[in-house]
Amino acid sequence: MGIIIAIDGPAGSGKSTTARMVAEQLGYIYIDTGAMYRAITLAAIRANIPIDEENLSTLVTQNTVTLEQSSRGQRTLLNSQDVSSEIRMPEVTNTVSRVSASASVRKAMVSTQRKIGEKGGVVMDGRDIGTVVFPQADLKVFMTASIDERAKRRASELQRKGIDTSPEIIAVEIEERDRYDSNREISPLRQATDARLLDTSSLLPEEQAEIITRWAKEIFPKN
Ligand code: C5P
Repeated sequence: MGIIIAIDGPAGSGKSTTARMVAEQLGYIYIDTGAMYRAITLAAIRANIPIDEENLSTLVTQNTVTLEQSSRGQRTLLNSQDVSSEIRMPEVTNTVSRVSASASVRKAMVSTQRKIGEKGGVVMDGRDIGTVVFPQADLKVFMTASIDERAKRRASELQRKGIDTSPEIIAVEIEERDRYDSNREISPLRQATDARLLDTSSLLPEEQAEIITRWAKEIFPKN
């Protein structure tokens, strides 16, 4: 079946691109948990509700977030509607950290994530995968990169999608988001004590994926 690979790290550290490549190389499924928090944030924006615990605890019971694997990668569904593109909108990005800090939201998302990943053969990326979702994960990686590099990568990713921005604007946004994610009470962004640190500042995505795939094969030679 395969092992559980947990990849955590701050925004723009290269987690999703790398995790997707590792999953492909190992024949595993790839789960982008950030997409789930983004989908529930989109639901809150659409409902136009104040972001507080009471509203969010109701919202998670009224909305279903599911992830679908297709040949073109993961699709994110909100109440069966494909919201894969919409969840990348700046409005969602700027609101998601306030929504993901909610106890009710985290409880619901973590429960779904555990159901998807418990059998193994999965690469899951996020902020709390190695610390909370799968503390028993076979391989834990904490990816980092300099703020300049992360901002540059995120800006060109958005520019490719036609969103007008610059590395300077993005640097402010991701630093603020990381600060919020690292200082929240529940499941803050943190390197698990037994996670391997991978600084990607001067690595290409292919190189990052190769390192993690090699680690996975060392742990589980049947891969
Ligand atoms: O990975 P991505 O940047 O899309 O994540 C969006 C947001 O979702 C993060 O800034 C964080 O607030 C939240 N998140 C989280 N726990 C995870 C994954 C994402 O709190 N496991």
